[in-house]
Amino acid sequence: MKNRNNYNYLLSDLDNLVGVGKKTMMILKKKNINNIFDLLWKLPKSYTDRSVINKINELQIGKISTVKVIPIKYIFPRVRNLPNKVICEDITGKINCIFFNSYEGYIKKILPLNEEVTISGKINIFKNQYQITNPTYLSKDSSIIEKVHNKYSLTEGITEKSYNKIIKQILQNLPLLKEWHDIKILKKFGNESWNNSIIKLHDPNNIANYKSNFYKRLAFDEIFSSFLVKSQIRKKIKKIKKDSKKFTQISYSNTLKKLRFDLTNDQNKALNDINKDLTSKSKMFRLLQGDVGSGKTIVSLISALNVIESNFQVALMAPTEILARQHFNLAKELFPKNISIQLLSSKSENSEKKKIIKNLANNEIKMIFGTHAIFQKKIIFSKLGYIIIDEQHKFGVRQRKLLSDKGGKNCDILLMSATPIPRTLTMTIYGDMDVSLIKEKPNHRKEVKTYSKPESKIDDVINFVKKEINNGSQIFWVCPLIEESKKIDHQSSVKKFTFLKKIFPNKVGLLHGKIDIDEKEKILYKFLNKEYSILVSTTIIEVGIDFPNANVIVIENSNKFGLSQLHQLRGRVGRGSKQSSCILLFKSNLSQNAKKRINILKNSNDGFEISEEDMKLRGFGDLLGFKQSGIKNFKLADPVQNEDLFILAEKEIQKIEKNNHDIQRYKPLLKLYDQADIINDIV
Ligand code: ADP
Ligand code: MG
Repeated sequence: MKNRNNYNYLLSDLDNLVGVGKKTMMILKKKNINNIFDLLWKLPKSYTDRSVINKINELQIGKISTVKVIPIKYIFPRVRNLPNKVICEDITGKINCIFFNSYEGYIKKILPLNEEVTISGKINIFKNQYQITNPTYLSKDSSIIEKVHNKYSLTEGITEKSYNKIIKQILQNLPLLKEWHDIKILKKFGNESWNNSIIKLHDPNNIANYKSNFYKRLAFDEIFSSFLVKSQIRKKIKKIKKDSKKFTQISYSNTLKKLRFDLTNDQNKALNDINKDLTSKSKMFRLLQGDVGSGKTIVSLISALNVIESNFQVALMAPTEILARQHFNLAKELFPKNISIQLLSSKSENSEKKKIIKNLANNEIKMIFGTHAIFQKKIIFSKLGYIIIDEQHKFGVRQRKLLSDKGGKNCDILLMSATPIPRTLTMTIYGDMDVSLIKEKPNHRKEVKTYSKPESKIDDVINFVKKEINNGSQIFWVCPLIEESKKIDHQSSVKKFTFLKKIFPNKVGLLHGKIDIDEKEKILYKFLNKEYSILVSTTIIEVGIDFPNANVIVIENSNKFGLSQLHQLRGRVGRGSKQSSCILLFKSNLSQNAKKRINILKNSNDGFEISEEDMKLRGFGDLLGFKQSGIKNFKLADPVQNEDLFILAEKEIQKIEKNNHDIQRYKPLLKLYDQADIINDIV
């Protein structure tokens, strides 16, 4: 090692390791192990103690054992497929060493006749004789046999022995990195240095020692670096100076008068946050997070009005056209008539589109609604000052960073998401943004009643549905979503559709994954316009759309869904003032765990609470949508087990932000843990 203080060794290629050739490298790369650092996180699962030397008559079949023996006879059959054999003995008995694919010369060298050698391997019995096939550790000097030997979850093609050698080599060459944490933090982890912690992590006596200082220190490093990167991105965005928006509250209070309700406290608070950002001199990059039905749209529309009043244009992007249209219609109702707003639809005539493009460019149109199509190259705004993006919880940090550059320096950005996440994950997932939370639901709303029923009682469900339809309600019927097989999805939904159509002629619509977008929107409109009473669907019914007349949702095979997902689905109903119901159907014989999950849902209508419980039951990797969001999985840290560390890291980051601390000292940490190109312009 030339420079032991440098982290570059850890970031270097695998072929810098002695004993790692092209072949091993390929095997590791397939497992997403790309450099030496990545190897540090493959931890020993168990170990074998090879230091105990047994007598042959004490050997246990199937166990990895070490024996001291004297080779007494070679049997080299010289026939293909027949292995070479060496008969060995000690004073208590005999054992055969079996070699496949080994040359005689090699065998004679490692097991010379009539000399004592120590051999180690898994003991088998064949035709009443002990044998070891391809003994791994052979030595004339028993003290050379390694005392303990770690077992890793091995990658095919790499032997235990060579893997141990590789790890040992890395641990010996581990750079002595300068401590990045301050004394106070370090003290919380028993002053364990990074270096020592890594060595302890691989010590077979420490397997699964999650509560120890070294383990926590390493978990904290991970959490802290992930938060720090995001906080630095946020800082960078904030540094962008913009022309602040100037508005009175006139259009705002006029709009409020048009509403048939008062804003909730949380809505008002969120609106204040946004207004403050708009009028400030720094670019806004804010997330408006709220449970389904908490009323985010109205908050975004009022803030849009303020921006328009300060003579900027606004763009609102929704994931689907039908949702964009719903927002557009609401704005048409609420906004003063002299403000020109438009919907850019894929269905509009070309001439119409051209007109919209022209009027956006000459500042005639003040607000545009649409899907991502509103960000096509040919669309040029005259004075875009605000972008609102609805229901985009699936944007990862990288996509968001690209987004933050959109619209230039004067453009404030608001993202809205109806996916509540556990408290400890807010920084993990959205640390690069400012966050406003709407926890409260509008208070007139009746809670959705949640029931569970075994599929055998489907007749009861049908009767219930009949009654509801007679009362003028509409029903969502969600068929199991089986990710592995779109085909099965399709079949099950078609089957259910046929079944329901017989009972409710002319009243059932079907949506499934094979229907194209245009057709899908048509069907959704028909349902919205009450042409159907029941909508059978496999794909998750589009988030965000308001179906005020839908009061019942039936979810088949409901234990296939995550809790947060079920809560999202349930949020599709209960928008109106009537009592709504959610019926969870399941196949009989639910596991204890599944029963627990259903109970959580029955007992709570709070998406944040449900997401906490969901995470405890399933781990955070599975939480709705976040697999796709690009948030990385932690190597050691666990948001449930290490909640305290997440909170500590958040506090530390706040301190750094508040006091504007220089972060250069964390450079090695960031370089090692977040190799993403994002950080290149940070440190
Ligand atoms: P989400 O937060 O899921 O996007 P929406 O903005 O679609 O929710 O609002 C859901 C419904 O609640 C809409 O019909 C909306 O008009 C209504 N709503 C919003 N705010 C309030 C409020 N303060 N009081 C009563 N109803 C409200
Ligand atoms: Mg919404």
